[in-house]
Order: sequence, then C-alpha cells, then structure tokens
Amino acid sequence: MADHEFDLFVIGAGSGGVRASRIAAAHGARVAVAEEYRVGGTCVIRGCVPKKLLVYGAHFAEDLKDAKRFGWQVPDCGFDWPTLRDNVLGEVDRLNGLYAQTLTNNKVEIILERATVSGAHEVTLASGRKVTARYILIATGAHPHVPEFPGSEHGITSNEVFHLDKLPRRILIAGAGYIANEFAGIFNEFGTKVTLINRSDVILRGYEEAIRDRLLQISLTKGIEFRFNSEFESIERQQDGCLKVKTSGHDPVEVDCVLFATGRVPNTTGLGLAEAGVELDDKGAVVVGEDNKSSVDSIYAVGDVTNRVQLTPIAIREGQAFADTVFGNKPHKVDYDNIPNAVFSHPPMAGVGLTESQARNKLGSVAVYTSDFRAMKNVLAGRNERALYKMVCDATTGRVVGLHMIGPDAPEILQAAAVAVKAGLTKDDFDRTVALHPSMAEELVLLK
Ligand code: NDP
Repeated sequence: MADHEFDLFVIGAGSGGVRASRIAAAHGARVAVAEEYRVGGTCVIRGCVPKKLLVYGAHFAEDLKDAKRFGWQVPDCGFDWPTLRDNVLGEVDRLNGLYAQTLTNNKVEIILERATVSGAHEVTLASGRKVTARYILIATGAHPHVPEFPGSEHGITSNEVFHLDKLPRRILIAGAGYIANEFAGIFNEFGTKVTLINRSDVILRGYEEAIRDRLLQISLTKGIEFRFNSEFESIERQQDGCLKVKTSGHDPVEVDCVLFATGRVPNTTGLGLAEAGVELDDKGAVVVGEDNKSSVDSIYAVGDVTNRVQLTPIAIREGQAFADTVFGNKPHKVDYDNIPNAVFSHPPMAGVGLTESQARNKLGSVAVYTSDFRAMKNVLAGRNERALYKMVCDATTGRVVGLHMIGPDAPEILQAAAVAVKAGLTKDDFDRTVALHPSMAEELVLLK
C-alpha cells in the first residue's frame, strides 16, 4: 500500500463519502477526501436536513390555528421568512462543522478542492497537484435536472430555495415527485400561492396509488393548484420582476418564482471517469456491481452518483459496506429489499415494500387491509383531513409485503412498522399485538 500517497482517495464529502472515509480510516487506511463545496453533501447542506426544518417551520401555520380549538388564545401571527431561513442556515453551518470535525478526528485529510480522476490510481486537484491512491471512491452525488427551454435560466432549484431573499407570493413548482410535493406543502403553509406542473398526469409515480391520491385530494383542498400533462414553453421576466410562464395546454401564469424539481442527475461530467475507463450508463451514472466496484478494479462508487436508490441512508450503507469490505476484512453487501421511504409533504406520507399493484403482479393473489380515519387531534381541531393506512399481504401466507400510509407523523410510525415488514411478519402477528390506545399507530393492529 505504501507505493501510493493514500490507501483511499474519496471524491465528494457527502453522506456516502463521509461514511466511507471515516470507516476506512478507522480500519487503519490512510484516507483523503476532496470536496469542492461544503462537507456534508446534499442531505446536510441543501437537502433532507434544511428541508425537514422548513417542514417543521411550515407546520406551525396549522398548529397555531388548531391551538385556538384547544383553548389557547393565539393572536394573529405573522411569519418572518428571513428568521427561519437564517436559523436553518445556521444549523446547516453547525452540522457542516461537526461533519468536518468527525473526519479530522478520524485522521481523514480534507482537501477543499475539486478533484478529477486522471488515472486508475491518480487524481488531479484543481490546484494542479496530483495525488495517488490505491483505491479511488467516487461519491460525488447528483445535481438537480433543469429542463431546457427558452427562459429556463430564470428558475431556481432545491440548491437555491433555502437562500431566497424573500418569500415568493406565488410559486410555480415543476415536477410532482418528492421535492415538488414537499416544497408545495412548505410554501403553501407559509401563505404562498402554489401551482404544481407536471409532464404526466400523476404525482409521485411509483408510490401506492391510494396514498398519493389522498395527498392530491388534500393538497387541492388546501388550495394548491395542479397542472398535469403540461410542458414548459417559455419563461419571460416582466418589467415588474415577476415571471410570465407559458406551458402547454394552459393559460400563461405569472409567478414570482419557478422551482424546478424534475429529478436529479449523477455528478460525473468532467470528472475524467470515461477517460480512465470507468463505464457510465446513459444517464451518466457510474455503473457498479453489488460490491460498489466500477469497471476499473481500483475505482469504486457509492451514493447518488450510481443512480441506484437516491436516498441518504442507502448512500451511508453503501459507504459503510465499501469500507468494511475493502479495508476492514468484513465483506458485506447492501440489502435493497424493503427500503422504507417518506415524503415530508403536508400531511406526510411513508411506505415500505410493494404497492398493491406491484404485489398483484408479483404474487397474483393478495389481501389488502385499510384504515381511513380522522386523527383525534384533527377531529377536535375541526380539521377535515383524513389519514389513510394500507397494508398489502400475500394472500397465501398472510405475510405483510407492503405498508403505506399518509397522515400525521406517518414517517415516524412507519419506521417502526418497517421493522416488522422487514422481519417478514404476517397480518396475524400485527393483529396479535395489543393496540396502544389512543394513538394513530394503533390503526396498524386494527386493520380490516
Ligand atoms: P422525483 O424523481 O421524485 O420526481 C421527478 C418529477 O419530475 C416527476 O414528477 C417526473 O415526472 C418529473 N420529471 C422527471 N424528469 C423530467 C423532465 N426531464 N422534464 C420534466 N419533468 C420531469 O425527483 P425529485 O427531483 O423530486 O427528487 C430527486 C430524488 O431525491 C428523489 O427521487 C428521491 O430519491 C430523493 N429525495 C428524497 C426525499 C425523501 O426521501 N423524502 C426528499 C427529496 C428528494 P413523472 O414521473 O410524472 O413523469
């Protein structure tokens, strides 16, 4: 190993890269990690963490209204975007520092420069310095896709949305996936007029149909507008600063902000990967095997850059598996079965396992159980918003193969229930468990 300056050179200090660096170093490897922006990556700096804080901030709009029904004399409250924005960005700074500290504590050298691959064992830094390593790990993540059309440069993405100078009065959100629905909920709670536009006629493709239908219905009730089967034609900035947006099949709309949430693209452009012989797929993702190894023996990749499952906990597991396998003499692979997922919409959704239609295609005979209820808190608050839980079982064995829910705290509840689904438990196992009353989660053991 001593032939090279480092045993491992990691490009990208996001969720996957940080975990791999830290664990490899703990196994005794000499590790360096290059980062061109900030240590922490998408999740910590401009994704999951600041987004979740905005979700919390937005939810106060409903809580403050509901509080009156619970006897609290709440005066009319105003919302100050710069206060929340700056507090959230302050928390991001704190976490950025902690992540850097963790790496340093583990004796990982942090190099705050862009690095590109210049050989099977060599990277070149922006400063021109060349570094050699026995292994190179690509953990560069992904960036938001922006559709190309006249005026698309006037739009922003999830990278910029956390830094807005002021709250837009009207926003058009492009896409109907995770990011679009999460920010639709956030901005709507802040009082922004939200319009969501998607190229197809569904939201959250791939999610359990009944659950996403419920989100659509609730979102419409809350005043969010949807434009389906519609493509962008142009965006023009008007003299007063607002944006005039033309989309197919609809009248032009004037808004203050356009947010693109139309998927994410692996960060491989200009990294020197193809030149080094690393195979990329048609989306530019690094093609890797189950062991995270690319087509070049010394180059591995983990996380969003591989475009397998674009989720933080998966990138972390891939980074851990890589480091344990290559440096820790503890070979293991990531298990991609039954990955729980959540959309932090208003209300949130969460799911694990197969949807009903996936289960029918795979198993033929399935049994479905649902609970469609109004959370007790919503009843007293006079909030006519119903939760929906759906359990999909293999009709032959009774095994729960899918669990999907929308309602208050759905992600918190689902995480625990996902353990049971992962463990292969049956509907009978759920039914044998005594209900914890009164709670929303008890619906899981009372499903009909
Ligand atoms: P998603 O894949 O969730 O949704 C993309 C949306 O954009 C879909 O509605 C899709 O339409 C539409 N779309 C895709 N490509 C184009 C295009 N070329 N032109 C116009 N529209 C397009 O992506 P997001 O950007 O919302 O999020 C990216 C990823 O980040 C997610 O897949 C998820 O893995 C991760 N993420 C996870 C979160 C969580 O766990 N809570 C939160 C945020 C992000 P359609 O499919 O209808 O055709």
